[in-house]
Amino acid sequence: MTAVRVSGVSKAFGTASVLDDVALDVPDGELLAVLGPSGCGKTTLLRLLAGFLAPDAGTIALGGRPVAGDGSWVPPQRRRVGYVAQEGALFPHLDVAANIAFGLPRSQRRARSRVAELLALTDLDPSFLRRYPHELSGGQQQRVALARALAPGPSLVLLDEPFAALDAQLRLDTGNAVARALRATGATAVLVTHDQTEALSLADAVAVMRAGRIAQVGAPADVYAAPVDLGVARFVGAAIVLPAHVTGGRAACALGTLETVWDGPDGDVLVLVRPEQLALGATGVRGRVEDVAFFGHDAVVRLRTIEGDDELSARVRGADVPEVGGEVRIAVRGPVRRYPGTAG
Ligand code: ATP
Repeated sequence: MTAVRVSGVSKAFGTASVLDDVALDVPDGELLAVLGPSGCGKTTLLRLLAGFLAPDAGTIALGGRPVAGDGSWVPPQRRRVGYVAQEGALFPHLDVAANIAFGLPRSQRRARSRVAELLALTDLDPSFLRRYPHELSGGQQQRVALARALAPGPSLVLLDEPFAALDAQLRLDTGNAVARALRATGATAVLVTHDQTEALSLADAVAVMRAGRIAQVGAPADVYAAPVDLGVARFVGAAIVLPAHVTGGRAACALGTLETVWDGPDGDVLVLVRPEQLALGATGVRGRVEDVAFFGHDAVVRLRTIEGDDELSARVRGADVPEVGGEVRIAVRGPVRRYPGTAG
């Protein structure tokens, strides 16, 4: 079953087009991350799904039911959609229990067991029930906001940059707790974010958005390994892009002659190498270590090739960090992808 079907949706504010012919399917129970830079139209898409906005063209169906476009219109309160905003969505004068109960139908507002169940689902201790929002950390507040959104048993949960205000570690922990809670309820979810790590690590599928259009949709590993173009490649991770000349499926570039993923015509291309594909060891082209950013578990090593004077970054294990100023050999592990284009 398709929980969300967006077909040919366009939206403009005045003369400014914000979404242009957007098509997107989200299967039942999937957590989809919509990833894109600020201003590309992510929130607008979410607001169209929620019913806070109507599309200018195209149709939206939720759970197989048309909700917008083609003469149909279902208002937000009848879409069975939960919404989690960036921050500050809790009622400051209500405690956690009352905030969560607010999401329940009137007849169930006194159902303490349901409130406790929702709290547990979002991995929060029962002792939080009597606390007020200002007595919670940002991450805890966002989990309560999710518990409230899940209270009425929505089929679809929309999350608009829900972790943006949190610092890195809290962001990761809260994100994981939220993704677990969503999976446990079986709800379909659309998470809007401009953070590629968040999108790749939490979601079942990622839709990369660019200037009001969907550039690519796929499983996180596929979008990372096989981006449709270099723009997507750079947006979902660090990318080394080198001019190369392909002959018989092998690309000659500053890092030697490399296997390519697919056979295309011979000629000048650009190849994409991910920093973790670089191996620093006894083989490969000669390079000098310019500097090292050490992260503990791993490190990013900035290198310059000695012959071509090309600058590259390698991602290596924390234990394998070379000496700054030293000479290393740089080899490429695995095949590389080729894209149209030439140097300069
Ligand atoms: P961010 O990550 O910064 O929130 P976004 O990708 O969610 O960005 P949107 O909020 O969808 O982007 O906005 C896309 C564009 O539409 C922006 O240029 C914004 O200024 C414009 N926009 C959004 N809502 C309105 C509105 N109600 N009226 C006029 N312009 C709007």
